[in-house]
Amino acid sequence: MDYDSLFREQLDALKDEGNYRIFAELERQCGAFPRAGHRGEGPERVTVWCSNDYLGMGQHPVTVGRMVETVQECGTGAGGTRNISGTNAHHVALEQEIADLHGKEAALLFTSGYVSNWASLSTLGSRLKGAVILSDSLNHASMIEGIRHSRAEKVIWKHNDADDLDRHLSRLDPARPRIVAFESVYSMDGDICPMAEIVEVAEKHGAMTYLDEVHAVGMYGPRGGGISEQEGLAHRIDLIEGTLGKAYGCVGGYISGSAALCDFVRSFASGFIFTTALPPAVAAAARASIAHLKNSEIERMGQRDRVRKLRARLDAAGIPHMANDSHIVPVPVGDPVKCRLISDILLREHGIYVQPINYPTVPKGTERLRFTPSPHHTDADIDHLVTALGELWSQCALARQVA
Ligand SMILES: *Cc1c(COP(=O)(O)O)cnc(C)c1O
Repeated sequence: MDYDSLFREQLDALKDEGNYRIFAELERQCGAFPRAGHRGEGPERVTVWCSNDYLGMGQHPVTVGRMVETVQECGTGAGGTRNISGTNAHHVALEQEIADLHGKEAALLFTSGYVSNWASLSTLGSRLKGAVILSDSLNHASMIEGIRHSRAEKVIWKHNDADDLDRHLSRLDPARPRIVAFESVYSMDGDICPMAEIVEVAEKHGAMTYLDEVHAVGMYGPRGGGISEQEGLAHRIDLIEGTLGKAYGCVGGYISGSAALCDFVRSFASGFIFTTALPPAVAAAARASIAHLKNSEIERMGQRDRVRKLRARLDAAGIPHMANDSHIVPVPVGDPVKCRLISDILLREHGIYVQPINYPTVPKGTERLRFTPSPHHTDADIDHLVTALGELWSQCALARQVA
């Protein structure tokens, strides 16, 4: 059998639909963020406008220094799973740092945020007898896959609609475990959930709350505890899930909650047990990053200032951008071909890198560019971007918005 032809068939179909993913090959330059080297067609040096390292912590001396130091002390890898020789003092200290961040009894580390959602939801849904998982309709793929793998009954409620959640919960037998799974900041529209309303509904029905704060940790709340900290609701959420790979600038994921909850997932989750622990140096650097952002507002303030500035400049140029209360600035294009074309020209002719966001990541007809300004984007970077976008808006005959 010609297996490669089977592979190519499906790849060709993807290309015909315009959904084939092409990666920009970058060389991040520590100390020069958001600048990066670029391989391939276009300039050798570009400005990155779509990184999830929202605060530039990936190049912060505190994070970099700690990682380098710890590699010198502990070597590179953890050398084992958490169960078999892989638990290092740095992992335990990081779990304590995270538990403190969210005001919880405990936390549990995973190799990524994706794995933390997948492993925790599959374990909760499959191990709690008769469980139902109520999932927001726009939840991330990692939650959807975890729920699917659990084989628990799944109910999808309307995005950010606490009344719809209430209606679904009212129909369910209160004797069954019910888990409400949702996010705080949704990364494609940048909208923020009505957390108080959702928590109230869940409490009224005695349902457990499972909150993905991946895009909010480090970014919101006086200590970077996320929207749940900002809204004073963390103590009313049963499980808070987060990543060390976005605002904290490292890699890894976690859950945080009661000691019994974390011990339960630790003891039963295959995706926690049967995989090598994070390198101690990553754990130490992530801990330094969290600790730094608990005490420092400079990065968050700088970031917010850049968002305001970018939005103001887009307004002045009549380029539409979707309103939200978060740090994500989506610019709607509404056409997959134009969206990719604009992104290509920005990269090739202007040295501006922003990945086009097309179906299936977002619904057809809502294709967009998604900008994530960091504290390190200068006024000149913003001017350069908006001038280039303005030219392309005219070339592509896209509608302007009168502010
Ligand atoms: C990125 C993301 C994750 C996965 O986190 P990683 O650490 O990148 O694996 C989980 N949930 C949401 C909402 C995300 O956007």
